[in-house]
Amino acid sequence: EEIRVSTTERAYDVRVGPGALGRIGDYLEGADRVAVIADERVAGIHGDRLEQALAGAGRGDTPWFLVPAGEACKTVEWFGNAQQFLLEAGCTRKSTVIAFGGGACGDLAGFASAAYMRGIDFIQCPTTILAHDSSVGGKTGINLPGGKNMTGAFHQPSAVLYDTDLLETLPPEEIRSGMAEAVKHQLISPDGHARDMLVTVDYSEMDEQTLLHYIVSGIRVKAEIVGRDEREGSVRKFLNFGHTYGHAVEAAAGYGGMTHGESVMIGMLYALILSEQLTGADRGLTDALQRFSERNGYPLRSVAGYPFEQLYGYMQKDKKASYGELHFVLLPEDGHPLMNKADREQCRKADEELRKRLG
Ligand code: NAD
Ligand code: ZN
Repeated sequence: EEIRVSTTERAYDVRVGPGALGRIGDYLEGADRVAVIADERVAGIHGDRLEQALAGAGRGDTPWFLVPAGEACKTVEWFGNAQQFLLEAGCTRKSTVIAFGGGACGDLAGFASAAYMRGIDFIQCPTTILAHDSSVGGKTGINLPGGKNMTGAFHQPSAVLYDTDLLETLPPEEIRSGMAEAVKHQLISPDGHARDMLVTVDYSEMDEQTLLHYIVSGIRVKAEIVGRDEREGSVRKFLNFGHTYGHAVEAAAGYGGMTHGESVMIGMLYALILSEQLTGADRGLTDALQRFSERNGYPLRSVAGYPFEQLYGYMQKDKKASYGELHFVLLPEDGHPLMNKADREQCRKADEELRKRLG
């Protein structure tokens, strides 16, 4: 499958499917030097596949830089190390960086590419389901000790090569994490089939075809939105559906207690309850999402450990909250999101209802 993403910065291909890595040579022709920045765990499991693809493209001499697995690489320190690596690897403005790993490694490598010599090309080779979301759209960045994703840049990749063969080794919590964003894409898109997905998909027996379908469909939704609003001035905000409350839960769990998408799933349930209460949305969708997330093992009950006061505090600190008012993406109707303010009391009522329904 091939999806074209068109932004004002550039247009690029997203190639998705088994063996997609084999096409990497198509995107390296103009590069005077190629350098890989890879998640060390992913490099250990699947590094030989990328090495082979590079050798096949006549790039067998490409230097590799391994960064800590997952979120641990998104630090100022690893950002600095990556810059130094690119310099020592002899990269110039005409060189291309390859990001090989999940969303964390993609965010770091993308930001390193955005900054090195004020911006060089990079190719995303995502290895998680979640990265169907993060690898498309050009948001890159790292964390600061005081906050997640607090420094970064918009820098679109020159291509995304998404080899779905690599997803076979993902642990269950990473499947839940990435699929939550796939559900989100179905929910917010007017072309989505969320209700269908929620009754039919069961992760324990999901075949490759089904997974590929939802990944491709999710990328199309993301690509379409980013093409209309690259810098989050308008419709790109809809991609934050479930993320205000979700980020609060993720923060309360101390990042790592729960995966990003697991928290977002809880946040989507909250946003749907808020949509019922503020816009009269149909409860049937919320119930379907709750059944879906229970069936697929999302840690919904963990909310009980975090009082509303604590979550509300985190929501106010979220960088998307401006002027003390909380703005949520609501879904009055499947596929038709809108932005809506909610005051403290409205937030509390939805929180109370969520806890009641989760039992
Ligand atoms: P991740 O990159 O942290 O990876 C999760 C874990 O899975 C890591 O331990 C990693 O080593 C392992 N892993 C990766 N691929 C594997 C594979 N094929 N087999 C086995 N293990 C594998 O997690 P993620 O969920 O992909 O990304 C989360 C990050 O993405 C967060 O930092 C988040 O802020 C960021 N993000 C960015 C955007 C964006 O638009 N830039 C959007 C959403 C999320
Ligand atoms: Zn997300």
